[in-house]
Amino acid sequence: MFNEEKRFSQPIRWAMVGGGRGSEIGYAHRAAAQRDNLFQLTAGAFDLDPQRCQDFGTSLGVDPQRCYADYTQMFAAEAQREDGIQAVSIATPNCSHYAISRAALAAGLHVICEKPVTFSVTEAEDLKQCAQARNLVFGVMYGYSGFQMLHQAREMVRRGDIGAVRVVNMQFAHGFHNQAVEQHSPGARWRMNPEVSGPTYVLGDLGTHIFYAAQMITGLAVDRLCCHRQSFIETRAPLEDNAHVMLQFEGGAVGTLWASAVNAGSMHQQKIRIVGEKASLEWWDEQPNQLRYEVQGEPVRILERGMGYLHNDSTAVSCNRIGGGHAEGFFESWANLYHRFGTAMDAASRGEAQPDLWYPDIDSGIDGVRLLECCVESADNQSGWVKF
Ligand code: NAD
Repeated sequence: MFNEEKRFSQPIRWAMVGGGRGSEIGYAHRAAAQRDNLFQLTAGAFDLDPQRCQDFGTSLGVDPQRCYADYTQMFAAEAQREDGIQAVSIATPNCSHYAISRAALAAGLHVICEKPVTFSVTEAEDLKQCAQARNLVFGVMYGYSGFQMLHQAREMVRRGDIGAVRVVNMQFAHGFHNQAVEQHSPGARWRMNPEVSGPTYVLGDLGTHIFYAAQMITGLAVDRLCCHRQSFIETRAPLEDNAHVMLQFEGGAVGTLWASAVNAGSMHQQKIRIVGEKASLEWWDEQPNQLRYEVQGEPVRILERGMGYLHNDSTAVSCNRIGGGHAEGFFESWANLYHRFGTAMDAASRGEAQPDLWYPDIDSGIDGVRLLECCVESADNQSGWVKF
C-alpha cells in the first residue's frame, strides 16, 4: 500500500502558467502535484489578468511577489533566485503551449504541458530537442493514463494474456456540446476557435487522450489512418464536433477512434476495447476501478482495482493509495502521473540515470499532434488514407 512518505529531501519547487481562478483544469494540476509532497507550489503566472493572478495566487498561499503578470517575467525573475522554481506546469489554452514550453525549457525548467502539446509536429519535435539538449523532463498531461486498471491492461497485453492484438476500439464521446453552448460558455468557445484550439476540436480535446491510452497499453505503432470529421453545429466549422478515425497499425492490427462532443445523453463514454487472439480487455473511465477481461468461451471476469491478483505495476509503482473496494478516481489518476513526472525530474536534476518508469512524455505529445495532423489531412482529402 502506498503512503505519502516524502521521497525527496526537498519537494520540487513548482509553478503554474494558466490554471487561474475559474479555469477548468487548474485545480486538478494543483491537487495532483501536491498530493504526495513531491511538488510545492512556489510561484505562478496563473492568469491573463495580472490582478486576478495576484489575488488568486495569494489565496493559494503563494508569496505575492512570486505571483507574476506573465510567464516571461516569471521565468526571468525566478532564474535570479537561489530558491527559484525547478519545474512548471502549463495549463493555458492550446495556442500558447508551444511558446510557453519553449521559454520554460530555455530557462532550464522541467515542463508538464497540457494536450495537445502544440499545433504542429514540427513545433513538438522542436520541444523534444530543447528538452533533450538540457536533460529536462517533458511530461504531457494525458491525465486519464494514470488510472491503475489501464496499467493492468498494459501488463496483461505485454505478458500475452489476450494473445496478439487484432483490434483496438477507442472512443471519447460526450454529449455536453450537442447544442451551441459556446454562445454562453467561454471555455467551450475557445475550443471551437481554430486560432486558439488549433486545427481540430474534438480530435485534440478528447481523441488524444484515448489514443495515448491505446499506445500506452498496446505499444502498437500506427502505420496509416483515415478520418471523417464534421460539425453538426455548423458555426463550429472548420473545426469538427464529431469525428471517426480508422487506423492500421504496423504488424496487422486495426483500430477505430470516435471522438465527439455531440453524443447526446452521454457523460463521457471514454472507453477502450482491445481485442486479442484469445481474449479482450475493456475499460470505461466512468467505472475506472474495473477492467473487463473476456476470454473466449469463458465467463466474463471483472478485475477490481487494489487486489492481489493484479500485476505489481498496478499496485506498487502506480501508487495503490487505498485498498480494493474503495473507489479511486480522476484525482488519483492525475496524482499517479505527477508522481512519475516528479520521480523522473528528481533523477534528472541529480544527474542520475532515468528510472525504469513510463509516463506520457514528449514523444507521446508528438504522436498526439501527429494524429491530429494526419486526421486533418485525411478529412480534407475525401477521407483518404494517410501515412502516419
Ligand atoms: P480555461 O479557459 O478554463 O482556463 C485557462 C486559464 O489559463 C485561465 O485561468 C486563463 O486566464 C489562463 N491563461 C490563458 N492564457 C494565459 C497566459 N498566456 N498566461 C497565463 N495564464 C493564461 O481552459 P482549460 O479548460 O482549463 O484548458 C486549459 C488547457 O488544459 C487546454 O490546453 C486544454 O486542452 C487542457 N485540458 C486538459 C484536460 C485533461 O484532462 N488533461 C482537461 C481540460 C482541459
